[in-house]
Amino acid sequence: MKYCKRCLYPENHPLNIVFDESGICSGCRVHEEKYTLDWDERLDRLKKIVNQYKSKSRNIHDCIIPVSGARDSYFIVDFVKNKLGLTPLLVTYNKQYNTDRGIRNLAYLQSKMGCDILSMTVDPRLVKKITRETLRLKGSIYWHCLAGQSVYPVNIAQKFKIPLIIWGAHQGLDQVGMFSHENEVEMTRKYRKEHDLMGMEAEDLANNSPILSLDDLELFKYPGDREIASVGVRGIYLGNYLPWDSKSQHEAMIAKFSYETHQLQRTFDSYNDVDCFHYSGLHDWIKFAKFGYGKVTDHASREIRLKRLTRSAGIELVKKYSNIKPNDLDVFSKWLGVGPDQILETVNSFRSPSVWERCDEGFKLTTSVIESADDPSAHLQVNGDCNFNNDSKRVSADESEYVLFGRGWVDNYSTIYP
Ligand SMILES: [Zn+2]
Repeated sequence: MKYCKRCLYPENHPLNIVFDESGICSGCRVHEEKYTLDWDERLDRLKKIVNQYKSKSRNIHDCIIPVSGARDSYFIVDFVKNKLGLTPLLVTYNKQYNTDRGIRNLAYLQSKMGCDILSMTVDPRLVKKITRETLRLKGSIYWHCLAGQSVYPVNIAQKFKIPLIIWGAHQGLDQVGMFSHENEVEMTRKYRKEHDLMGMEAEDLANNSPILSLDDLELFKYPGDREIASVGVRGIYLGNYLPWDSKSQHEAMIAKFSYETHQLQRTFDSYNDVDCFHYSGLHDWIKFAKFGYGKVTDHASREIRLKRLTRSAGIELVKKYSNIKPNDLDVFSKWLGVGPDQILETVNSFRSPSVWERCDEGFKLTTSVIESADDPSAHLQVNGDCNFNNDSKRVSADESEYVLFGRGWVDNYSTIYP
C-alpha cells in the first residue's frame, strides 16, 4: 500500500487519491492552493454570486443553509448572515443519533443567530428498518444520515423556491484534491450518489431490499433534473472562496457563541462531530474495518496540511486512536434491534482483504501508515499548534432547562402510554 509522504493518506482512500512523482498526494497538492490563491479576489467572486440571489429574491429567505449541532454549522451561518448579509433559512435532517450536546448546540445556533429553522424527522421505525438494510448491503449505519442531510435541503429549496443552498467545505476537494478550488465545483447528484451514498441512491436501495419500497424511501429520493431546473436550485461551497480551516473557524465560534466541544472516542478533534453518538464511535470503527484507517487519519492529515502537526506526531495520534474499540455498540444494537455479535459479523464481512488478514485474535492489519517510509523533503514547516480545547462548555448543562430543539419522539412510547 502506498502512503502519501506528506500527510497520512493511503492509496485506498475511498474518494480516490493519486500520487505525483514526489510521492505527494493530490489532496496535499490541492491544499497548497490555500497558501497561494488570492483569497480577497475569491471572496469578491463569492459576493457577486450571492448578491444575485439577494437582489432577485422575492422570499424572506435569500438562501438555505444545511446545519447540524456540529460541523462548521456556526461558522457557516455566522459568515453568511453577518458577513455576507444574507437571510438564511436553516434546515436540519434529524439523524436520530443525537447527543445532548448536539441538541443544545443546534438550539443555541438558532437562538443566538436569530434564524428560522426547518427540521425533518423521518418515522423512527422506518429509519431503523432502512439502517438494518444499509448495514447488510453496504456495511453502513450512516446511509440514512448522509442521504437525508444531502437531499432535505434540496427538497426544501425546491418547495419554497429558494434556489441557493450554501454548504461548507467540499469533502472531495479538501481530502483528496478531486477538484481545484478554482473549479468552483458545485453540488451534484452524481457526487452525492457515488461518494456520499456509496453508489446507492434510494432507488437502488429499494431495488435491492425485499422489505423496503420506493414509497418508503420517498423522503430520501433526489428530485429529478427537470424539477431542479425549474427552480434553478444550485449548491455552492464556501470552501472554494475561503481558505477553509475548520479548527480555527470552530475556535472563533467557541469564543463568539460558546459552541460546545467534547472529547470524542476515536479522534483528537473535539470540535467536529460532537452531535452524534456514533460518528466517532461505531461508525468510525466501521470505516477503520473497511479501509484500515479512521477519522483520526483524516483529522491528522488535515492538521499536517495546515502546518500545525508533524507527520510523525500525526502517526502517534493514529497509533493512539485507531484501535480503540467503540463503546457505543450496545446502545446502537439496542436501538437497531440486532444483536452486537451479528452487527460485528456483518461489519467483518466488509473488511477489505487488501488491508486485513485473519489471525488468532480475529483480524490484523497487513499494512499501516505507522510503518510507512518517511521522507523529510516532503514535509511542511510546522508553525502553529494542534491543541484542541475539549472543555469549552460555557453554557449551563442543567437538563431542567428548556431544550428548544429535541428529538421529536420518545423511545419507549408503549411504556409511557400503554
Ligand atoms: Zn497527502
